Amino acid sequence: MGTAERVLAYGGGWLDRAGPLRTDPVRLSALFAESSTVLLPMWRDRCLVDGHGPVRLSAERAALVRSAARETVFLGLDGEVAVFAADLSALPERSAVEMVGAVRSVDVRALVGRLEPGHAAVQAYARGLLHWHRQQRFCGTCGAPAVTDGGGHLRTCTGAECGRLLFPRIEPAIIVLVEAPGRPGRCLLARHAGAAEDAYSTLAGFVEVGESLEDAVRREMAEEAGVTVTDVTYQGSQAWPFPAGLMVGFRATATSDEVRVDGEELLEARWFTRAELRERAASGRPLGRVDAIDHRLLTDWLAES
Ligand SMILES: [Zn+2]
Repeated sequence: MGTAERVLAYGGGWLDRAGPLRTDPVRLSALFAESSTVLLPMWRDRCLVDGHGPVRLSAERAALVRSAARETVFLGLDGEVAVFAADLSALPERSAVEMVGAVRSVDVRALVGRLEPGHAAVQAYARGLLHWHRQQRFCGTCGAPAVTDGGGHLRTCTGAECGRLLFPRIEPAIIVLVEAPGRPGRCLLARHAGAAEDAYSTLAGFVEVGESLEDAVRREMAEEAGVTVTDVTYQGSQAWPFPAGLMVGFRATATSDEVRVDGEELLEARWFTRAELRERAASGRPLGRVDAIDHRLLTDWLAES
């Protein structure tokens, strides 16, 4: 089974995003008032957790929390149940924690192994959407305040002669497993500036304006590692709302063994055989971050022979 068919961390959320409801504020208000409604409170990119995990508030408490929240957004429908998220970032942390009956705040990334994957996906979705609202309070064109619209999936500039619509911003990045030409099979891993002495990972970079994803793969590999690549093939993608990413995984083949790192982003890059990577994994050195697509790219490659 290919990477794309299997669910990566922060994917596979169970919600029906119910896009058409976003443009129906009357219906959304009615849904919010229903007794079955669930509200997920967040505080500055962090879940608010009790002894069972992220707090899920029922309608009774939701109204109070909404009145203290800077934003409340509609995430979607869980069957018939409407799910909203509220941003309590304007409160001191302790007040936010106490208001929702939590015990502390914690980043979803610290919970990901323990949360059911669908729950992790919805918490990450809430985190990314609320983060965008905090960053997009004003219109970038005219500077007037922007107000929430579309159930929280849009902001509208209030400038009298502007009225621009502002949509959540997503920043795509490519992440690449580069294979060496010929045999034995080897892949390119790099030591990034600021990483631990023996920490190697796949190469990655942001997509620039005017580039296709494949262009970005070819440019980043050339710039960072001095490697020319061909056969750029898509492997899968991963929601990465930390705060606004979308990770797009590829494989590519280098045209030669030669590597020349830039010395800034990458301190060193070198080829690893499968045997070497298995040995590293066996000695407790992780193959990428366990919640991230680079781990999947590496484990898929290792499984091939
Ligand atoms: Zn404006």
